[in-house]
Amino acid sequence: MKADKKAFIKTNYMEDSIRIEKDVRIELAEAGFSVMDEYDDKSCDLIVCIGGDGAFLNLIHELDFPDAPIIGINTGHLGFFQEIEPEQTHEFMTNYIAGNYQEQSISAVDIVITCGGRKYRETGLNEVVVKGTVGCNVHLNMSIGGSFIETFTGDGILVSTPAGSTAYNYSLGGSIVDPRLRLLQVTPLAPINTVAYRSFTSSLMLPAGSALGLVPEHAPAPDIHIEFDGFSKDYHNVSEMKVKLSRKCVKLLRLETYDFWSKVKSKFL
Ligand code: NAP
Ligand code: MN
Repeated sequence: MKADKKAFIKTNYMEDSIRIEKDVRIELAEAGFSVMDEYDDKSCDLIVCIGGDGAFLNLIHELDFPDAPIIGINTGHLGFFQEIEPEQTHEFMTNYIAGNYQEQSISAVDIVITCGGRKYRETGLNEVVVKGTVGCNVHLNMSIGGSFIETFTGDGILVSTPAGSTAYNYSLGGSIVDPRLRLLQVTPLAPINTVAYRSFTSSLMLPAGSALGLVPEHAPAPDIHIEFDGFSKDYHNVSEMKVKLSRKCVKLLRLETYDFWSKVKSKFL
């Protein structure tokens, strides 16, 4: 590690987080880090995020998927991204300096939306969700790798990364995916499966390289609502959407003892 190391700290508004930031600053100074006021992707060695998983997702979007590795200190509820508890900060810094940690690379998912001949991209680390007008079904012709699969009718379609499989995807009855797998999970939101409409009612798993195409049945659709990691945007006159694994990723630091399934067990069971 170089002599002059730089860290960036992001803390959410919670009282606990603000209190913990003071200790983190002391730990970082003792470990030879100076703290940057503004994030600089070229020179930052370590990002410390203090808050819950939501705070982590906000940070990722605010910094537009930063290059520097991130350690999360959990003051939220679950802590799937936020690896350590506040009282483990000193232990983590000692291990980090000694090189005793794991780095987990997490890939995001992209959705490219075509409206009136223009293309727009949104990216989610947990998921992207396609919905229609509030209170209405959305009808989407779905294709995988260019071949037509079904016309989906229901509240919408969620495409989750393995890291996002324990979030919204799980509430919809989707499967929990080990983050060592590279795949996308397509999970329906309230699919209708009757003689009137035929939609898959379970999740579909797609390999990392494949693309999911979604074309509104009556394209262009006047209103399509896109959600990504708890953010949302409305798009108008949408002719098609394509969902794929993103080139964007984040590097999460984990304790040497990190084990995804132990985390799942302790948070869910
Ligand atoms: P929020 O509404 O406060 O988040 C809902 C919960 O999801 C929070 O408890 C959050 O943890 C947790 N969470 C976030 N990412 C997770 C992950 N990868 N695995 C397990 N739990 C996770 O909004 P937010 O905190 O900004 O989080 C945005 C996420 O909320 C979205 O990406 C989406 O997955 C999720 N969401 C879920 C539902 C649902 O389950 N019905 C509906 C909308 C959105 P913290 O408490 O630690 O922040
Ligand atoms: Mn939250």
